[in-house]
Amino acid sequence: NNSMILITGGAGYIGSHINKELNKKGYETIVIDNLINGHESAVKWGEFLEGDLNDFEFINSIFNSYDIEGVMHFAAFTSVAESVEFPAMYYKNNYKNTLNLLKAVKLANVNKLIFSSTAAVYGNPKKVPITENHPVNPINPYGKSKLMVETVLENESKSIDSDFKYVSLRYFNACGADPETEIGENHNPETHLIPLILDVAIEKREKIAIFGDDYETFDGTCIRDYIHVCDLAQAHIKAFEHLQEDETNKNPLKKSNIFNLGNGNGFSVKEVIAACEKVTGHKIKKELAEKREGDPAILIADSKKAIETLKWEPKFTDLNKIVETAWKWHKKLNE
Ligand code: UDP
Repeated sequence: NNSMILITGGAGYIGSHINKELNKKGYETIVIDNLINGHESAVKWGEFLEGDLNDFEFINSIFNSYDIEGVMHFAAFTSVAESVEFPAMYYKNNYKNTLNLLKAVKLANVNKLIFSSTAAVYGNPKKVPITENHPVNPINPYGKSKLMVETVLENESKSIDSDFKYVSLRYFNACGADPETEIGENHNPETHLIPLILDVAIEKREKIAIFGDDYETFDGTCIRDYIHVCDLAQAHIKAFEHLQEDETNKNPLKKSNIFNLGNGNGFSVKEVIAACEKVTGHKIKKELAEKREGDPAILIADSKKAIETLKWEPKFTDLNKIVETAWKWHKKLNE
């Protein structure tokens, strides 16, 4: 079987880890990426084609040239702050360009797609841990653009004359790196907590700003659900296998699904800083800063549905282990 998986945005942080894992499992992959935020050096497995999802002819030619069994769709802009500043750019790249991809997918009769979604679709949660039934109410253009894609995927899976099925995976705080240190997180500019703290450890930055310490949490700082990127990768493979199962059953509604992906434990900003101090052996200088707009006190996933339905099990539940992989990669990246 020479069928391949097409990975859009496979040169990015999360896509590159899924690409590695798919190849390890014996899948053939083809990565497309416009390299605006991705790095060609992160595509160490499968084939690579540089291109943009706004280019329908480009996407369509890939489906005409390769035997594609399914798509994993990561290509998107991912910064909440940037989405507030440039909303139209986010809707165009994340939503409109996905419509091009879907058009090519349908023309080629490809019927399986895994979508990289986000906990941002929930907005400020009414209740934690957050289950998939929690109402969606994104509070920024980034989360809204992802929810728009989920909506069209759901509609497509319900269209009568199609066997198209999809799984949407709503990630909480993706973090960590490939334990073999071949790939990892490399954002420019960096905005995520763990790599920013590690920048302080290598003295690239002077201090870490703590965005608020009077939240209603046990130590006053925000609690997030940090999920290791390799655990995310495993979930994507399980989700794809979930769609492959029972392929003869032409009822796509039975298989299409939405899953939260988190590690089940929340950690506060102060706990993350302490773990980074422990793992790196460096004292991290901190300063109290203004709260960031739109930051809820606690975001924790209820991932029971993914654990039960997909037989998925997050392995990196220990924050120190997560930070260890991030630290090894961070040192290599900044050598
Ligand atoms: N955070 C912080 N200082 C920073 C960056 C982040 O205190 O310099 C906090 C942020 O308020 C949030 C958590 O760390 O509670 C994780 O933020 P990140 O930007 O990594 O991910 P997000 O939760 O926004 O997706």
